[in-house]
Amino acid sequence: MNIKRILQRITGSDISIIYTDNRVNIISFTKGKGQITLRLQRIFMDAPLDVIHEIGQLLKNPRKKTPLINEYFKRNRWRIRKKARLTGRIEPMGRFYNLRKLFDRLNREYFAGELDAVVTWGRRSPKKAVRKRTLGSYNAETRTIRVNPILDSPRVPRYFIEYVLYHEMLHAYLGIKRDHRGRMRSHTPQFRELERRYRHYSKAIEWEKRLQRI
Ligand SMILES: [Zn+2]
Repeated sequence: MNIKRILQRITGSDISIIYTDNRVNIISFTKGKGQITLRLQRIFMDAPLDVIHEIGQLLKNPRKKTPLINEYFKRNRWRIRKKARLTGRIEPMGRFYNLRKLFDRLNREYFAGELDAVVTWGRRSPKKAVRKRTLGSYNAETRTIRVNPILDSPRVPRYFIEYVLYHEMLHAYLGIKRDHRGRMRSHTPQFRELERRYRHYSKAIEWEKRLQRI
């Protein structure tokens, strides 16, 4: 989808877009003769079509109400706020598996498409023993899910990667709770119950036992 082309079609003007890191002023524009210069916060680069359409309507009529833009901004604000803290490369595309695609599918199936998180393969490191807890991780501060790149292999079935991913998505979904002594508890009974809802749960648990051999 080309945002510029869509906006040009809606407004009938020539559009130039400047993407900004501005945290407060997320959309602003100046109009010249048949020409509009639009300054857009980066989060709109992957905004859905209906939001882009509303931006087009706004360019035509600056007084127009913008419920879709407001809602989109509300849901994506964390990406602006946390941007500075995101460190390391974000690379969801592996050699065999595209984590973003798997994430989106799981998100639709189990979280009504509402879960926001960054997802990436972790860095490849010299071969180490694979332990369960290192297969995936979730960083609540940056809302980043990392999956161990050792799993990016044709020998690993998709349902197993999805299981690891789903586990970390549950952490993002439930957050980290503290018990009455203030200790962190991530794998609560509720967590375990939701985890068992994963469609291929038993198969994944079974397959995990063979992990030492990959
Ligand atoms: Zn966990």
